Order: sequence, then structure tokens, then C-alpha cells
Amino acid sequence: MERQRRFTEELEDKVARATRRLRELDQAKSEFLSVVSHELRTPLTALQGFSELLLRSVLPPERAHRCLVYLHTEACTLGRIVGELLDLSRIETGRPLELKPEPIDLAGLIERNLEIFAAEHREHRFRWTASGSEVALNADPDALDRMVKNLLSNAVKYSPRGGQVCVSACPAEDQPGMIELAVEDDGVGIPADQLHRVFDKYVRIPHAETAAARGLGLGLSLVKALAEAHGGRVEVDSLPGKGSRFRLLLPGADRHF
Ligand code: ADP
Repeated sequence: MERQRRFTEELEDKVARATRRLRELDQAKSEFLSVVSHELRTPLTALQGFSELLLRSVLPPERAHRCLVYLHTEACTLGRIVGELLDLSRIETGRPLELKPEPIDLAGLIERNLEIFAAEHREHRFRWTASGSEVALNADPDALDRMVKNLLSNAVKYSPRGGQVCVSACPAEDQPGMIELAVEDDGVGIPADQLHRVFDKYVRIPHAETAAARGLGLGLSLVKALAEAHGGRVEVDSLPGKGSRFRLLLPGADRHF
């Protein structure tokens, strides 16, 4: 009798826990959908607004050009969000990320990105240093581009007062055979006790100065997944109020993944 009572209690407890977990997951899903819809709606509203303006009125060339720059920026944001969601759904369903590695012109890829970022973020200065021909990399160009864009966009987003963003590439001194690509900013930084969480999905570290910054908390988890799919990894060093340095480590061209 006593055994049966205990068994029933345990069973009830298990069902209660499972129900609680299901409720939490359901809530997380609703929250995710609401954040994603909001993230998609923001660039969409801008696309609708600016394209309508261009269609309805004859604007002086300079204003029309500015509208086109906004349109392009917001279209890129939409593309990035959709790309990230597709990657994420692959990771969630256990499908491998599709990588097509090829020799990379790293300097070209970074310079193109810095040009785009410099045009869109006038209050930031961008610096790029590479130790030349030694940096030979095999990677998937789209995936690498996504990783670089994510790190650059965070560097800008989390230094809201402007500042310097330094990008560098060189063979990793402490990791033979690996190439190190670093993106460093002098923004708000990340508290030491939160550093381990920033690569987790949906994690956003609250900060008064960057409360208005848009984001899903997915970018770094994708950078991590993409780096690992290349046989590499990503690390961070940061000091609150001083800035952050993200270090992407990828196998050099003579290593295969
Ligand atoms: P999102 O930027 O969309 O929130 P990420 O996954 O790219 O998502 O980043 C997760 C969190 O890590 C950010 O919300 C922010 O709190 C912190 N973070 C990322 N990059 C930086 C950075 N360069 N400086 C300070 N904090 C950062």
C-alpha cells in the first residue's frame, strides 16, 4: 500500500514537472515568435516607407540616394535575419550546416565589409591590420562573411557612442596551424560573470546604454556554430566600460576540416 502511494506520488510529480517544462517551452516559443516578428517588422516598415516615398515623390538626387542607402541597409538586415533563422533551424533539427570550403581572399572579404560598415556608421572608425601572405585560409565564403558581419555589427551596436573598431588577422601564436581573426571594440564591454553566456542562444546582456539595440540574441551562437563547423572556435575577452575583443580561430589553409 505504502509502495503504491509512493509510486503514485512520484508519477504525479513527474507529470507535474513535464507539464511545467512544456508550459515553459510553449512560452519560450511564443516569446521567440514575438521577438522574430518584431525584428522582421522593423526593417520591413522601413522598406515600405522609403520605397513609398521614392514612388510617390520626385526627390532631389541627394535625398533619393539617401533613401536608397536606407533601403539597401534594411534589405541586408532582413537577409541577415532570414539567413540566421535558416542556420538556426538547421542546428535545431540536427542537420549539418552546409559548408563549401574554398581558398579565401581574407583581406578582400574584410575590406569589403569594412567599406560597407564605414559608410553606414560614420561615428565609428575602422582599422584593419593583417600579417600579409601568411594568412591563408580555407573556409566557406558565405559562412565566413556571416561571421565577420555578425562580429562587426556587434562591435558597432555595443559601442553606441562611436569609437574604434579594429580588425586583425594573423597566424594564432598560441594555436599552431590556426588563423586568428580578431574584432576589437572600445564599447560597453561585458561583465566577467556574463562572458560564458554570450555564445548561448537567445542570451542578451542588459545594459542601460544599449537597451535600444535591436537583436535576437542569436548572432554569437551562430558564429560559434559556424566556427565549430569549420573545425575552429570563437573566444571573447572583455572589460566593462573598456570594450570587447572577439577572436575567431579557424584552421589555416594547410589544415583540412
Ligand atoms: P544580439 O546582438 O542580437 O543581442 P548576439 O548573440 O550577437 O545577439 O550577442 C549576444 C549578447 O552579447 C548581446 O545582446 C550583447 O549583450 C553581448 N555582446 C555581443 N557582442 C558584444 C560586444 N562587442 N560588446 C559588448 N557586448 C556584446
